[in-house]
Amino acid sequence: MRTPLLAANWKMHKTVAEATAFTTEFLPLVAGVDDAEIVLAPPVTALAAVAGACRGSNVAAAAQNVHWEARGAFTGEVSLAMVQDAGASHVIVGHSERRHLFGEDDVAVNRKVRAVLAGGLSPIVCIGETLAEREADETAAVLDRQLDGGLAGLTADEIAAIIIAYEPVWAIGTGRTATPEQAQDAHAHIRGRLAAVAGQRAADRCRLLYGGSVKPANAAALASQPDVDGALVGGASLDPHSFAEIVGRGRPR
Ligand code: PEP
Repeated sequence: MRTPLLAANWKMHKTVAEATAFTTEFLPLVAGVDDAEIVLAPPVTALAAVAGACRGSNVAAAAQNVHWEARGAFTGEVSLAMVQDAGASHVIVGHSERRHLFGEDDVAVNRKVRAVLAGGLSPIVCIGETLAEREADETAAVLDRQLDGGLAGLTADEIAAIIIAYEPVWAIGTGRTATPEQAQDAHAHIRGRLAAVAGQRAADRCRLLYGGSVKPANAAALASQPDVDGALVGGASLDPHSFAEIVGRGRPR
């Protein structure tokens, strides 16, 4: 039995005051939820404030990115120890915006995943194809390449413990959501690849989130698919009532 996980990715939105106001309003809305993990990923400047506000609640905090080195001359970067110190328990790794806007490749993703695991935090590893790749029938090959590269060297136990977010690039921030069937097809493929690499037991334990224009209106249909274990939500997670509704409807039952 996999515990559902609903994660909010705020990207480059919200000051400390805005993030704190969101959290104050959001926590009572989900206070009764005890059958899912709920994670908020604010910008790094608001991470300590959000993590502090969530302490003792059923909501955890995540960083949106991290560098793989422990310290050094890496202007603008933050280390795992820094986000851990700020209160993060999860780290989003390899988001498509990191890959496509900032040139992050599978080698970098793999270094980050290993750094997050070595520090005892949970990586949420994002993978997904572009529209051109889908139209060229390359979705499965792209997912395999990103899984094999991003998870290289991980043990079966580590693969069982990580979280993977399938986020088709054509669905992120576009309002165009994958159909529940498209999401299920991709998730089943991912789980099959994990089983081939790490064994069926690890594959069955690994949680697979769908991301890409998830909203209150489509969350339940996506969550009804057998291999969809929750959602990674961007735009619709910026409003506390909207994200609370997604938590309410987007839990696989
Ligand atoms: C995301 O940022 O990971 C995402 C899926 O964004 P949106 O929900 O806005 O498509």
